[in-house]
Amino acid sequence: MPPILLAVDKIYPKGLMWFRRDLRVDDNAALYQALRACRQVVCVFVFDRAILDSLPRADRRVEFIRESLVELDAELHTLGGGLIVRHAVAEDEIAPLAHALDVQAVFANRDDEPDALDRDAKVLGALANAGIAFHTYKDQAVFDRDEVLTQVGQPYTVFTPYKRAWLGKLDAFYLKAYPVRTYTEALARPPEKFRHAVPSLKDIGFEKTNLADLEIPTGSQGGSALFDDFSRRIDRYREARDFPSVRGPSYLGIHLRFGTVSVRQLAGAAHQLSQQGDEGAATWLGELIWRDFFFQILTHHPHMVEGGKRRSFRPEYDKIQWHHGKHADMLFDAWCEGRTGYPLVDAAMAQINQTGYMHNRLRMVVASFLCKDLGLDWRRGERYFETHLNDFELSSNNGNWQWASSSGCDAQPYFRIFNPVTQSEKFDPEGKFIRRYLPQLSKLSDSVIHAPWTAAPLELEAAGVKLGENYPNPIVDHAEARERTLQRYAVVKEAQRDSR
Ligand SMILES: Cc1cc2nc3c(=O)[nH]c(=O)nc-3n(C[C@H](O)[C@H](O)[C@H](O)COP(=O)(O)OP(=O)(O)OC[C@H]3O[C@@H](n4cnc5c(N)ncnc54)[C@H](O)[C@@H]3O)c2cc1C
Repeated sequence: MPPILLAVDKIYPKGLMWFRRDLRVDDNAALYQALRACRQVVCVFVFDRAILDSLPRADRRVEFIRESLVELDAELHTLGGGLIVRHAVAEDEIAPLAHALDVQAVFANRDDEPDALDRDAKVLGALANAGIAFHTYKDQAVFDRDEVLTQVGQPYTVFTPYKRAWLGKLDAFYLKAYPVRTYTEALARPPEKFRHAVPSLKDIGFEKTNLADLEIPTGSQGGSALFDDFSRRIDRYREARDFPSVRGPSYLGIHLRFGTVSVRQLAGAAHQLSQQGDEGAATWLGELIWRDFFFQILTHHPHMVEGGKRRSFRPEYDKIQWHHGKHADMLFDAWCEGRTGYPLVDAAMAQINQTGYMHNRLRMVVASFLCKDLGLDWRRGERYFETHLNDFELSSNNGNWQWASSSGCDAQPYFRIFNPVTQSEKFDPEGKFIRRYLPQLSKLSDSVIHAPWTAAPLELEAAGVKLGENYPNPIVDHAEARERTLQRYAVVKEAQRDSR
């Protein structure tokens, strides 16, 4: 279904725009609809304690949101409005606030994660009890829910035909920006008693992180600057994207997560370039399509994450007996802390731990290493990423972990097991990425840096590497681990045979 525009303008005297993961003014679907439908629009954001209370006290994402809100508030102010920012449980806060502001309708962009749907259902009920309408709109995906279906009306579970259908459906209508600025005269300043500065991190119980030192740009200005930079090298994306030492990808994940960029704008630009034959742009558009693909997978298969439990897309994969107990815990800690003895894996874990970002190729390598070399349940790695990734997105994270563990919808076959040494030789041939994150290995030659245990004792000594002291010996033997994994996954084959 195309986005539905309200037929009648100005049907409400006053409305409330509830920002969530859409922290921008331009091309914001719900803001546009609110401004069209209401004579006055007040804006709010809630730092939702239902989400924040369980997070570590230093969290780059919270700081990113806070900095982006400062920019959003200033921009709304310039346009005649302003932002009310609350620190509360959102599902308890919105209806009383809407009532206190005397609005007739609340507008928001929808969020299809099961917890968010649950929250919104409760908010809808509380608002309905107060006689206030609640309107939600698609904004975070180009296509979501049932918009792209197979010819027999079923959701896709395989990416390639989904992508074909997605591209087949795409036209200018779906990419057109909502002209928010045409209607901003409806923005209203929050009433005096609700007007406060955006709370500091300390006010909401958080500490400063290294976000500023990392120069991660925030807000829609930051998102635009990153996209401008990426636009100048998008044509090289296809070749560059797999090499972690190269500035190949866009680094826009966190902006897509919090809506400081519009996915319509990004997809539109990439689509236009790809139509002109830019293969880099076409490949990048494909990545945005993966994002939509996983959104709709989660929508249609919420059982994978419901009730705080993670289940395999393919149930037979939940029969796998993962390595557990003290030794498994020790292996998991080594993985988390980048002490596996496999340099590419350890450098990748250093990257996520120090910056909250991990290059896509490395996400695939460390995920495969966790479940297929260490024999650990993919859910442990998924949870770790959930806490540490700046761009953590439930649907993409779950989808990709299930891809790596082979339990997912369109996954890597279970017998395909990344070799962490050959991946390293192929994608970090000169060891530049490894040297950046593991300086203790920096003096090793390119030929042994991927597997320091193969170096001659004299070479190790000359490079100042003491295996077992300043860099670990490998915690597993890849070839042996591979055999164990094939045995571990045999149960899947048996279950598949039995069900035939
Ligand atoms: C184990 C694992 C876990 C992952 N967890 C997440 C996650 O929590 N959040 C997340 O956004 N991506 C996740 N990804 C996908 C991908 O690694 C990141 O989107 C990408 O590295 C983000 O960097 P970028 O913005 O520079 O990406 P670019 O290469 O510039 O891609 C642009 C955008 O396309 C989307 N995209 C790219 N690759 C994928 C993909 N494979 N699946 C879905 N969307 C994709 C993202 O929104 C990304 O920001 C995961 C991948 C793996 C293998």
